[in-house]
Amino acid sequence: MKKIKINRLNDYLKNEYGTRVYKLPLDGGFSCPNRENGKGCLFCSDSGAGEFTFNDFPIKNQIDLQIERLSERKRAEKFIAYFQSFTNTYKPVDELRKIYDEAISNEKVIVLDIATRGDCLDDEKIKLLSKINEKIDVWVEMGLQSTKKSSIDLINRGYSNDLYFDSAKKLMDNGIKVISHVIAGLPYESEDDFLNTVYMTQKHDIWGIKIHSLYIQTDSRLYDYYNENKFNLLTMDEYTNWVVDSFKILNEDTVVHRMTGDADKTKLYLPNWSRDKLKVISEINRKIKEYNEQI
Ligand code: SF4
Repeated sequence: MKKIKINRLNDYLKNEYGTRVYKLPLDGGFSCPNRENGKGCLFCSDSGAGEFTFNDFPIKNQIDLQIERLSERKRAEKFIAYFQSFTNTYKPVDELRKIYDEAISNEKVIVLDIATRGDCLDDEKIKLLSKINEKIDVWVEMGLQSTKKSSIDLINRGYSNDLYFDSAKKLMDNGIKVISHVIAGLPYESEDDFLNTVYMTQKHDIWGIKIHSLYIQTDSRLYDYYNENKFNLLTMDEYTNWVVDSFKILNEDTVVHRMTGDADKTKLYLPNWSRDKLKVISEINRKIKEYNEQI
């Protein structure tokens, strides 16, 4: 048994870039093939996981506005352009090039971070990202959520684990850093199911991980599903135990981007404990400390 040592995103950024780096959530006007072709992921909200973006503005204005706002409050000098809402590679390559170029044209932007799906990354798109990666660091975030077949079907992720990890490998082979999103507490999943998902990210050398608890927003299909099926939701104690257990199998280099959910509080239905992010994080930190003191 060894002590838990996690590589938190803020520490990674400070080591890599010598200062704090701030995220600028952007809305590039994308949609999502999974919502257009079907019903979308079970938990997806109306904003496609982009709860904190300023849409309806050109990218340059979104960036300028946020940099100005952040610079007033903090001494912020370096930023991550983060395309968060929906599927941010779901446009023709020429359009993508224009959108990404606009985002990285501000010299204070030092990382281009793109949230997308593994089935929306053909070779041409990967080539474009690889070219941009020669200028500034590119990260690609993909929602894995689970590797359990019945869960993937239930949440309607819409493509296989093989395709997910194939796309991840192609990106990594081109020097692009990949971040997997995983959910703890999906309907009918055990802790072993969740830990197996985390293990699979490590087996495939995924660079970063975002962990969050399953939460239900009133504007998602999950809201109706929960009210019809009343499946078990994790308590905060269970969730924090699962997360700490997952850290025992993480490679020390894996960058932990998130360890709790980030719901829109105005639309959050359950679980109530997930409203208090700071409390959840402090409980995880307390449990890590307790575990490390025992061994
Ligand atoms: S891939 Fe993302 S945007 Fe698309 S349906 Fe799933 S959660 Fe929503």
